[in-house]
Amino acid sequence: MKKIIPVVLLLITISPTFAAEESIRDFANDLQQIFGIEAKKTLEVGSRTRFAPPLFPSNTAEASYNPVLNTIFLKKENLGANNYVKSITALKAMEPVTYPVKISTIFHELGHAEMDQFVLNDITVDDRALHSVFTNEITPWVKKNYPGVNPKTLFHETYGYYRGSVIETMFNDKATIEIYNGWNSYQKRCFFNPDLKAKVMTMTKEDFAQIMYPENNSAWEEKYSSRFVPRYVFIQGKDVDLMKNPADPFKEQWKKAIWNYFSQNYRSPSNMRELAVYFKTHHQDRNLIRDCRNAFWDESHK
Ligand SMILES: [Zn+2]
Repeated sequence: MKKIIPVVLLLITISPTFAAEESIRDFANDLQQIFGIEAKKTLEVGSRTRFAPPLFPSNTAEASYNPVLNTIFLKKENLGANNYVKSITALKAMEPVTYPVKISTIFHELGHAEMDQFVLNDITVDDRALHSVFTNEITPWVKKNYPGVNPKTLFHETYGYYRGSVIETMFNDKATIEIYNGWNSYQKRCFFNPDLKAKVMTMTKEDFAQIMYPENNSAWEEKYSSRFVPRYVFIQGKDVDLMKNPADPFKEQWKKAIWNYFSQNYRSPSNMRELAVYFKTHHQDRNLIRDCRNAFWDESHK
């Protein structure tokens, strides 16, 4: 009862902010452009979610989700005109080194909205499949292993951290691919690393100008489904270890179910090699990389 009045006040305060996919369009399109994480689902989530600056200055979180208001509150600096979430390009321009943390946090919070609006609302076949894993398998497991923890909260956070891990892993892989390709993305400079030196005399100029990846390298082949693993989730002021009980850890088949849901809805590359293949046609610096490589090739074939 005591919560009702503040909620009404908050609703009045943020009522000019309507849920609309425009509010997340630039961010979603950049996610697709940068990593091949399809924008469609993010736009659908955006069409059912409000975005607003924090109601209280004391809230310094990068982003947070309020299920009652169905609102993602973001630091003012992360919002542009009409409370639209800024594009990743704009967020990067603001914080060129640490922006991946911002992106990961915003994507985590969007996961909470998706969980409430889609998964637990049984909108699609995929939603129903993941919802049923939660109800029939994860809920009893939480009750048995984590007394006092609300199963829904734990599932929500696990999905949020999973999505955070998607973004962090893909940013790390992007950096690995760039190093392998002799590209310094901060300084927009190329370097002629040993891998490239070993290849320049054996390749045509055209092939050498492409973004490359190693053949049959297990690290580049390892599936994201086994790499995206949330282990610690922060709930009610403390870390919960999903693997706390070695005899009864968070199950592989549940990780698989979360991956299936993610991959069905976002159609991202499924390992680092696929991300590199995607970069051949989509990396934002691919033209600069090609120019550098052409110069290396010409220099080496003089
Ligand atoms: Zn969360």
